[in-house]
Amino acid sequence: MTLFELLTQGTECLEQAGSPDAGNDAKLLLLEAFELDMTHFLLNRMQTLPENQRTGECTAKYQEWIARRAKRVPLQQILGSQEFMGMEFFVNEHVLIPRQDTETLVELVLEREKHTQKRVLDLCAGSGCIGISLAVLGGFEYVAEADLSEEALKVTRKNIERLAGESGTRIECFHGDLFSAIPDGTEPFDILVSNPPYIPTEVIAGLEPEVRDHEPMMALDGTEDGLLFYRRIAKEAGKVLAPGASVYLEIGYDQGEAVRGLLREQGFAEVEVHKDLAGNDRVVCGRFVG
Ligand code: GLN
Repeated sequence: MTLFELLTQGTECLEQAGSPDAGNDAKLLLLEAFELDMTHFLLNRMQTLPENQRTGECTAKYQEWIARRAKRVPLQQILGSQEFMGMEFFVNEHVLIPRQDTETLVELVLEREKHTQKRVLDLCAGSGCIGISLAVLGGFEYVAEADLSEEALKVTRKNIERLAGESGTRIECFHGDLFSAIPDGTEPFDILVSNPPYIPTEVIAGLEPEVRDHEPMMALDGTEDGLLFYRRIAKEAGKVLAPGASVYLEIGYDQGEAVRGLLREQGFAEVEVHKDLAGNDRVVCGRFVG
């Protein structure tokens, strides 16, 4: 057996399962299972693999991963990581896999608020990708990560340990439903960031199986019109924000006007909708007047 043959088998198996990007995924799983880099693979792919314990173990691991991917388990959950803002975040089935779209929000906050002695609240933290990248890249004084899921917060904590140890930012995690996670008496926040669940319930059934069947439903489902969490955030944010605080919310491509309206109704000023790299509306920001 050669690496090339293993790759061909894996690719065919994924193609039969209707998995998009079969060749690329099989290659990444092969390299990871055999702990090889691309150069080694290219130079040695036609050589017969030695028949030893290592080959047996790596092959078994690769085949198990291919079988999981054929069931449309996301590649990131199999490999346990996703790159976001230049950092490798640990992910599992309890958190949303960080998306490139969300970098638009982080970059906007960094552009406007970098190197400030500000306190940041990341609601619906999930993997913690937003709050942690702000801590590492933004030099903020304090970041609070809040989530309704205990399992998600375990992932957040792991990512804080792995990625933010040197950041100099104090980071704490809180468990609870949106703002109720924040203990009474907490000093007000200057920046609120959130990528809340925003997919309308009936749209979920039509999503790719990777998302629909394997990412946490509670990270996706924004209820009937997708807007429940924006409504609640707009209404309840005053409980924890300092006057003049800024709010940055990720939104679905068609939710810009609705979320702008919700923030305005609740008295937020300077409400703006920002686009992502693909030209879709992606972030709504505003200022809490107090
Ligand atoms: N904040 C995390 C992210 O943006 C999780 C978001 C969520 O669970 N809705 O990836």
